Amino acid sequence: GATIGILGGGQLGRMLSVAAARLGYQTHIFEPDANPPAAHVAHLVTTASYEDAEALRSFAEQVDVITYEFENIPTSALDILETLRPIRPGREALRVSQDRLTEKEFLQRLNLKTAPFAVVDTREDLSAALDSIGAPAILKTRRFGYDGKGQARLKSADDIDNAIADMAGAPALLEGFVDFSREVSVIAARGATGEVACFDPGENVHRDGILHTTTVPATLSAGQRMDAVLLATRILSELEYVGVMGVELFVTAQGLIVNEIAPRVHNSGHWTQNGCAVDQFEQHIRAVAGLPLCDGQRYNDVVMENLIGDDVDNIPQILRETQSALHLYGKTEVKPGRKMGHVNRVQIKPS
Ligand code: ATP
Ligand code: MG
Ligand code: MG
Repeated sequence: GATIGILGGGQLGRMLSVAAARLGYQTHIFEPDANPPAAHVAHLVTTASYEDAEALRSFAEQVDVITYEFENIPTSALDILETLRPIRPGREALRVSQDRLTEKEFLQRLNLKTAPFAVVDTREDLSAALDSIGAPAILKTRRFGYDGKGQARLKSADDIDNAIADMAGAPALLEGFVDFSREVSVIAARGATGEVACFDPGENVHRDGILHTTTVPATLSAGQRMDAVLLATRILSELEYVGVMGVELFVTAQGLIVNEIAPRVHNSGHWTQNGCAVDQFEQHIRAVAGLPLCDGQRYNDVVMENLIGDDVDNIPQILRETQSALHLYGKTEVKPGRKMGHVNRVQIKPS
């Protein structure tokens, strides 16, 4: 059978590997860290740095197609890999989403709404940006941010010095604070032949900058649900995207505002494991392997809750819940803020 190469061995790589195995594929993980979550379920693991050209070449030669579980893959590594095997989703999606500025410019080019923003490299830039955008606002590093890391909130101009210090010289973007009523995300997939299938939008609640729960169905009108799915479809089509993407949205009285896009399977799509016949991980593997997609139909209401740090203490109780599916990532060391697993609580409809 074919072998799928996955860049990144975290929980997303692990769940992609499980889905690939179910479809009869082998997976080969490339991951700098020793003993990553995906290593327990993948067929092959290369532990090497993204600077190691020889390791990258050898990895590529052992797989049929390359995909990834995170967006911050160094450009130099992609340059080597792409000469040897197809990379799906393609490089344009990575180029656009690796920097919050290129991402916002791309979204604006599609006439999609974003938070007002301004580039901030210096204290003077921040002061001017805050004057024009207004407080409250959020300063975010342009690159490498996740789980709310690399962000500073500004309530007023008094916070400028602290916010600049938090960026530690990294190029940043100031975003106006969006007064949203809720946050939702669309997990969308586009196949190798261009068909798009979206899962039902999920409603997301964050705690300390980290996703806490995703609930389906989201509280949205039929029109908002349609808008969400249509705008996600436009993003994937414009990028000629192949694979699953997470599109994070703010719901406001003025319509949907795109917060950010993630060119990979997404934490807010974990509910699909127990709400759909084909989950986001299988959907992604289908797309990158050139198989037909499933339609994304949902058969259950689900609340997904992340198990972060000490939340693992609740596992004995969760195991006693009769309609809860527990998904653990095999991480041995518990750390505050570390995603250890998640639970999908389903509401089975009486027949
Ligand atoms: P992820 O782990 O999803 O990649 P991230 O570190 O890239 O997270 P964002 O998604 O930019 O962070 O922000 C995290 C959360 O902070 C958002 O889901 C939202 O709740 C809040 N937030 C971010 N930007 C804004 C904004 N401009 N206005 C209001 N709230 C915001
Ligand atoms: Mg992000
Ligand atoms: Mg986000």
